[in-house]
Amino acid sequence: MYQQLRDELRQQLDEMHATGAAWTEHLLTTAQQAAVGVRPDSTSSPCEVLNFCSNNYLGLANHPEIVNAAIEAIQRWGYGLASVRIVCGTQDIHKELETRIAGFYRTEGAILYTSCMHANGGVFEPLVREGDAVVTDALNHASIIDGIRLTKAGRYIYQHSMESLEEKLNEVRDTGARRIIVATDGVFSMDGDIANLPRIVELAEEYQALVMVDDSHGTGVLGRTGAGSVEHHDCFGKIDIVTSTLGKAMGGAAGGFVAGSREIVDLLRQKSRSYIFTNTLPPAVVGASIRALELVQESQDLRTRLQDNTRTFRSRMTELGFAIPKGIHPIVPVMLGHLGDGSRFARDMCRDLFDEGIFVLGFSFPIVPRGQERIRVQISAAHSDEHIGRAVEAFERVGAKHGVI
Ligand SMILES: *Cc1c(COP(=O)(O)O)cnc(C)c1O
Repeated sequence: MYQQLRDELRQQLDEMHATGAAWTEHLLTTAQQAAVGVRPDSTSSPCEVLNFCSNNYLGLANHPEIVNAAIEAIQRWGYGLASVRIVCGTQDIHKELETRIAGFYRTEGAILYTSCMHANGGVFEPLVREGDAVVTDALNHASIIDGIRLTKAGRYIYQHSMESLEEKLNEVRDTGARRIIVATDGVFSMDGDIANLPRIVELAEEYQALVMVDDSHGTGVLGRTGAGSVEHHDCFGKIDIVTSTLGKAMGGAAGGFVAGSREIVDLLRQKSRSYIFTNTLPPAVVGASIRALELVQESQDLRTRLQDNTRTFRSRMTELGFAIPKGIHPIVPVMLGHLGDGSRFARDMCRDLFDEGIFVLGFSFPIVPRGQERIRVQISAAHSDEHIGRAVEAFERVGAKHGVI
């Protein structure tokens, strides 16, 4: 039986590779940091490149203090818990991290998950049922989409604008929905634009909806103390449910959370399947995340460095004539789709940039709409002035070669 399926699967894979729709995993031969070793393919020897495509926004992924905190936690609390949280998998440090996250986002409580994918996968189902509605931005992360699919609530997709959100809320109101949740990314991962939380909160108030914000690309990056898009928009206390990851700016290992009111957090602890039926977050990650939170809250230094790097890169690239949408986030899309065959530009330029020692990724359909192909650059506090300079100069050469600037 399998032979027939094998042929079908092989054909499907071949098609994906032929059309450029297949992912390639780049092999790193070093820790995650500003300059990484990469083995372009399994047969070639590794080369050193500057990494401009990780979510290591604050440079904590291999920061000595974070590494040490992980080692100390593993020595004090052991390697694993061999249990889910509700049986015998909750240590003091898990509660401590939850308390600190609640303090960070100024909510009544917080609950840890092993990833934000799990947090988003488990946050909706306990709260909504058939006849309820989740109104969700078309550009929301896949984990939000999947989380909503796990419920029996209606899914209403708005087209990334406040006018479209209002239209959908009107439509939902006519259905007589009992509970309504508006779900949005705090920062959208392809464009780096920040959700209009004040307007979303206002509309939610008007339509009696809850607001859920996934702050994965905001946490640690935006806001005076690092509390993401929520702090950036001064929306503390106005967002009912904040979910986020510990796997990006906060050290980049793993882990996610939901922060919100006491009742929501308590209910998730009782009912959220991706919390209950999976293993505890390992102590090393918990200990390091506590230290990451301290670093993020204690000082502005890393964020200031990140903002300076971001500002420099954005303005120099714009001056060179690249199409960079306005923004302040370290996600910097270099748009190529308006030039014609955007996916070819993205592919060829990324290859040439890699040869110049700059590691970036291009994104094409179906990840972004046709005509909006781009190279997504991600800036880090770990980049030095020289790193930023080298990236801009490489873009200048490669952009000129391809007639992009
Ligand atoms: C990265 C990301 C996630 C997934 O986070 P993990 O902790 O890696 O599962 C979820 N939502 C958004 C918006 C993200 O950017």
